[in-house]
Amino acid sequence: MRLDLTRAFVTDGFEKKVEYEADLSPYSDMLSRHVSGCKASVSGRLFNRAGVLCLELAVRYEIAGVCDRCCEPVTEKRTAEVSVVLVKELQNQDSDVLVLVDSDFFETDGLVAEAVMLDMPSKLLCSEGCKGLCPVCGQNLNVKKCDCKKRQSPFDILKQEYNG
Ligand SMILES: [Zn+2]
Ligand SMILES: [Zn+2]
Repeated sequence: MRLDLTRAFVTDGFEKKVEYEADLSPYSDMLSRHVSGCKASVSGRLFNRAGVLCLELAVRYEIAGVCDRCCEPVTEKRTAEVSVVLVKELQNQDSDVLVLVDSDFFETDGLVAEAVMLDMPSKLLCSEGCKGLCPVCGQNLNVKKCDCKKRQSPFDILKQEYNG
């Protein structure tokens, strides 16, 4: 969403609601997981407090993927937070919070995509206790047990070797 900052920068007490659907499809290559519909629902506000222009957004999105353990389809709803200060010039400050704006307009989509990218979980699981797939026969162990573990345990193999 393109925000007009003309008044926001110069008006102490300025406040504006920000609410829109962000299209993440231009950023899909940056994202480690697939976002449902390539869309995020953004809500928050742009406000000026004592001359400091802040942008606070909550970015709601849903990951559509497969469980890292059992490969079953899984979706996960998540919310990424954005909280930055928009500035017209940077004075040697190296900060994640300050965002340099070089015109009176600011496009929020890049910031939203970055927040989603940083929020993506390293693990996607259908449930915390997912038992995953048997590495031997591929059985989904959440559905039923197999007896590979019994047969393949290192102790059994050792025993077989001694006895054989
Ligand atoms: Zn799973
Ligand atoms: Zn098995």
